Amino acid sequence: MERKDFHHALTILTDVCIGCSHCMRVCPTEALRVRNGKAVLYENRCIDCGECFKVCPVRAIIIEQDDLRQIFDYKHRVALIPSVFFGQFSDKVTPAAVHDSLIEIGFTDVFEVENSAEMLSHAINRYIASPTAVKPVISSFCPAVVRLIQVKFPALVDNIMLLKPPLDISAVYYRKRLVDAGAKPEEIGIFYITPCAAKIAAIKSPVGEDSSEITGVINMDTMYNQVLKNIRHKSNDSQSATQPFIKGKSLMWSLTNGESGHINGNCLAIDGIDSAIEFLEKLEGEEVTDIDFLEIRSCDEGCAGGVLSYGNRFLTVERMRKRSKQMGTTQTAPISGPGTDMWDLYPYLLQRIPLVEPIKPRNMVKLDEDMAKAMKKMERVQRYMCFLPGIDCGVCGAPTCRALAEDIVQGKAAISDCVFLQKNMEHSRKLHPDHSYRIMERIWGKDRLQKDCNKLQNRNLES
Ligand code: SF4
Ligand code: SF4
Repeated sequence: MERKDFHHALTILTDVCIGCSHCMRVCPTEALRVRNGKAVLYENRCIDCGECFKVCPVRAIIIEQDDLRQIFDYKHRVALIPSVFFGQFSDKVTPAAVHDSLIEIGFTDVFEVENSAEMLSHAINRYIASPTAVKPVISSFCPAVVRLIQVKFPALVDNIMLLKPPLDISAVYYRKRLVDAGAKPEEIGIFYITPCAAKIAAIKSPVGEDSSEITGVINMDTMYNQVLKNIRHKSNDSQSATQPFIKGKSLMWSLTNGESGHINGNCLAIDGIDSAIEFLEKLEGEEVTDIDFLEIRSCDEGCAGGVLSYGNRFLTVERMRKRSKQMGTTQTAPISGPGTDMWDLYPYLLQRIPLVEPIKPRNMVKLDEDMAKAMKKMERVQRYMCFLPGIDCGVCGAPTCRALAEDIVQGKAAISDCVFLQKNMEHSRKLHPDHSYRIMERIWGKDRLQKDCNKLQNRNLES
């Protein structure tokens, strides 16, 4: 798949948006504004964490996916599934039944992403031991965290581990396996079933890579419904044709502590976007020492809390724990089949595990291309901050006073958008009340002001 710069998986349906600003208030990178009564995305700030998607009360934010029918463009149709997918289903639905359903839906091959976890942990331990590794090494597993560091903590980009996550390694492996068995590269379609928006963005515009090995992405909630429907229509005595190979410990990789549990040295696992930001601030301020490896996940409980997960994250984790124990002790791995020859291909895969390019910071507030002009604009931002009230009320349609000041110097907003300054200007007769009413209409939309008046009237008449 070809690289697209700053691809975003989230789309705002303007017709559906009611301009409630819930999304703007939770966005960790101040990537949303309200203009004309609708949410507007500043693409260079967005890290595809999905926090806005979670809080939208009217489902005006959607996460794009590829059309499932696209799989039939390929002779070899590989479903690459994160093992957290198994945890979506009740204990009665076995991983083998999930495999079978995916085959019946139309895939020709099914492979769990975390099959490459064991091999990757070997490579990570070598990476951390290398004298050139910048400590603490931060895992590259969660693409929302990688993007968060790029836009908000540029001083820490060198700490990000320059190794691919299991998803990419498993895709490289499976493609190689099929080609070695005689498949033509153009006949192979690898489709990832994703628990989150960030992985879609990472596949469509990879960081540190020219292109992705993944052909398409299907959202996990969509696939969950398809698989469940298929399982319900099956007769009870149907036999499992496929056998998952994954080992119990690898199954837990995408959950909190799942990755750090494989790594030597002092490791720390952090989950949830707010905790991630809090910790990265400490790291940037050099308050954290003596840590070798940091596993940071944007979602609570790791991928079990992904925004495209169907199941409750705590139940998902519990089911996966049980399955991990069962798989680790009772399941006998097949002697041959997908995954069993992975270590034979280690030299081949080892060459492909490092990222091809270093990870670079991504400036989310580029005030100007010209450095001298950018410095001047930064001084203006500071000056505006002296006038703005500093209470981040959001009535101006920006999430914070600083975000408004940055918008003003970039010509995207006006100082009179601040409701406090409006009142001051009205008081000193520098702004006519009609003008200040029009400013509010520009931010919150005509309908919003009209509708609220009508609603209020109706309520008053009823009482
Ligand atoms: S996906 Fe995350 S970063 Fe992007 S707009 Fe939504 S909350 Fe903000
Ligand atoms: S949460 Fe954001 S996208 Fe959803 S309705 Fe409110 S303003 Fe619009």
